[in-house]
Amino acid sequence: QGAKIKNAVPKTDFRFEDIGGQERAKGELKEALDFLIHKDETAHYGIRPLKGILLTGPPGTGKTLMAKAAANYTNSAFVAASGSQFVEMYVGVGAQRIRELFKEVKTLAEKNNQDSGIVFIDEIDVLGGKREGSQHREYDQTLNQLLTEMDGMSTSEKPRILIMAATNRMDMLDDALLRPGRFDRKISVDLPDKKARKQILLIHTQNKPLAEEVDIDRVAQETYGFSGAQIESVTNEAAIYAFREEAKEITPDHFSLAIDKVMMGEKTDRETNA
Ligand code: ATP
Repeated sequence: QGAKIKNAVPKTDFRFEDIGGQERAKGELKEALDFLIHKDETAHYGIRPLKGILLTGPPGTGKTLMAKAAANYTNSAFVAASGSQFVEMYVGVGAQRIRELFKEVKTLAEKNNQDSGIVFIDEIDVLGGKREGSQHREYDQTLNQLLTEMDGMSTSEKPRILIMAATNRMDMLDDALLRPGRFDRKISVDLPDKKARKQILLIHTQNKPLAEEVDIDRVAQETYGFSGAQIESVTNEAAIYAFREEAKEITPDHFSLAIDKVMMGEKTDRETNA
């Protein structure tokens, strides 16, 4: 019990430009967010206001970054929680936490004079997994509370609240969450292609002393199948190798070692240096 949900960030400076690649996902997300910004125009056309956006895709592809950038783009208050924080809570505590999250984002928006707020729930599958039998009753209350909050969200009331959620197990989600009027926008955030990997590498090497011989195109080539998070790891590990050797700059060799390390995951440093 008592898992803390206190990740309120008054303002996030994270921008879409800080996310490498993901052009399609960013475009789809921005279009959806424009509905939030231009709510009077959309109301004119009788467009049903957007309440929930679900980001789906493998781990480490930048879903959390997208949510933060969305808050910045729309000048929204931002509050985040993870589905796993609701596990093993006493009956009722999870539901209470959901209520608090919504209260928190409203308070934050009012404090900062913002017209909108975004509630981001990572790993929504843990909280909103398919309901089977009665053994998950404590999660049910949490999920039901989330659905109640979503259904009760008024579109004329200020601040307007948007729920963003992320999952890499879309198949696990309870159908109730996917009904129209709930998470009715789904955006897939995929593993980066070579061009995107290069952009992510450039973002994460900006502040690092790279040797001239480092060929970022080549590193992008060699990190085929890596997620953004793994690419970030490569840049960090490469810097650590350089630091350990007290090298002035990060060399292509450091990158090779780092790629191996991230690819192997568990491989020990001794083995990698052998
Ligand atoms: P999970 O599903 O595991 O929660 P996620 O999709 O939410 O992962 P993030 O937490 O957004 O992934 O990304 C983890 C880290 O990986 C980021 O903090 C960032 O350093 C790096 N990263 C991932 N994708 C990108 C990207 N497209 N551009 C730049 N950095 C990225």
